Amino acid sequence: MSNVAVIGAGYVGITTAACLAHLGHDVRCADVDAERVQRLRKGDIPILEERLPVLVSEGLETRRLQFVVGAAEAVVGANVVFLCVNTPTSDTGAADLRYLDAAAAEIAPLLEPDAVVVTKSTAPVGTSRRIQQILDEHGGAAKGIRVASNPEFLREGSAVRDFLKPDRIVVGCDDPSVAVTITDLYRGIHAPVVVTDPASAELIKYASNAYLATRVSFVNAIANLSEAVGADIRDVALGMGYDSRIGSHYLDPGPGFGGSCLPKDVKALLHTAQESGHDLPPLRATLEVNAAQRTAVVAKIAAALGDRPLADSQIAMWGLTFKANTDDLRDSPALEIAASLLEAGAHVRAYDPVAGEQAARLMPDVDVVFDPYDACEGADVMALLTEWEEFRWADFGRVKATMRGHEIVDTRNALDASRMRQLGFSYRGVGR
Ligand code: NAD
Repeated sequence: MSNVAVIGAGYVGITTAACLAHLGHDVRCADVDAERVQRLRKGDIPILEERLPVLVSEGLETRRLQFVVGAAEAVVGANVVFLCVNTPTSDTGAADLRYLDAAAAEIAPLLEPDAVVVTKSTAPVGTSRRIQQILDEHGGAAKGIRVASNPEFLREGSAVRDFLKPDRIVVGCDDPSVAVTITDLYRGIHAPVVVTDPASAELIKYASNAYLATRVSFVNAIANLSEAVGADIRDVALGMGYDSRIGSHYLDPGPGFGGSCLPKDVKALLHTAQESGHDLPPLRATLEVNAAQRTAVVAKIAAALGDRPLADSQIAMWGLTFKANTDDLRDSPALEIAASLLEAGAHVRAYDPVAGEQAARLMPDVDVVFDPYDACEGADVMALLTEWEEFRWADFGRVKATMRGHEIVDTRNALDASRMRQLGFSYRGVGR
């Protein structure tokens, strides 16, 4: 078993740390946020992620998992260090590597001889080389520190399952013994392992996310066409998905992709391509369709109002996170749509099962409430933005009695259209 340090206690870092401790390794997970670390030490998980509280408690009880403030404390005694810090979008669209660079510079003088530093953060082609250089410049060269890329493919909402039962494990490094060190950490997990060079590993991550984003934009474009020609996207997607060359994943139309990964990773890949003198036209189209999809939701809400203008209308919003089963609001379509509605003069009252308090801080002009029926009070339109399961089973008789109008805009095709119409709602889904 190994001594592992995990730098960054976010969605990826906590999951990586807890799962590696579950596999039997001794893990120290660090964050710069002292309050976050204090919470984690008590087993209080700052993010919503199924099974994570159980695994963190298990790790704390067995003492295989510790949380510490600052990367320096985590790396002492570690033979493998995972960098799991955030890599947001910079002004140019490129990945902003400042947190990764800072973490590497901070740990370099404290690393054990022959330690392996692994980038799990999503970072562009060339990052492994860049990290090696930073480590070497800060004292790593004399200690034989080696680097690798081991991109993470987990999805928020099923992060623990995805980590312990991944579709594949990708390791990019120049030294075969480093690949053995990393794959040994995953012993007990049955998945294909792709061992490759660092640039290919880095590109696998971006190409995968860009492909998924492109599928979402593709199905959204076909959904819009379905509406125009009188087809039903649900049947179109069903019929497409049965084709084994296509498959049914990522064929659900909606308000566009969001979250902390797909939008930023598509932009970063485009930037990488441009920097190397290439263009990726499909990815530009993917982003364009995605932006238009968010605008189309606002237009659909406006259309539902009929002759009434958006100004001074009352819009109820159900769901604010970028998808169900996560508390993540980063780049959520719902927030952008709420901002556009406010800009047009509408009043927005919103409910989300888990992210209400966070959303209220981010969007003080949205009236965030903590009950779905309160959100519908006096509303002209109810717009469903996130496919939370509880919305399917809501008391729509009560919704109808609470609203002023009777318009539903279901941006996820989550509700039963015929039942809604029977109840007297005017129902608009996506692509049907
Ligand atoms: P996050 O923002 O939730 O967490 C990052 C954490 O790193 C923060 O808590 C921050 O305080 C901490 N941090 C930053 N600098 C630090 C330092 N020097 N020392 C210690 N801690 C530091 O980010 P995330 O969602 O976990 O994503 C991390 C990386 O993994 C990103 O590159 C992301 O693209 C990638 N990724 C994310 C997901 C996902 O679903 N969230 C999936 C796969 C890959």
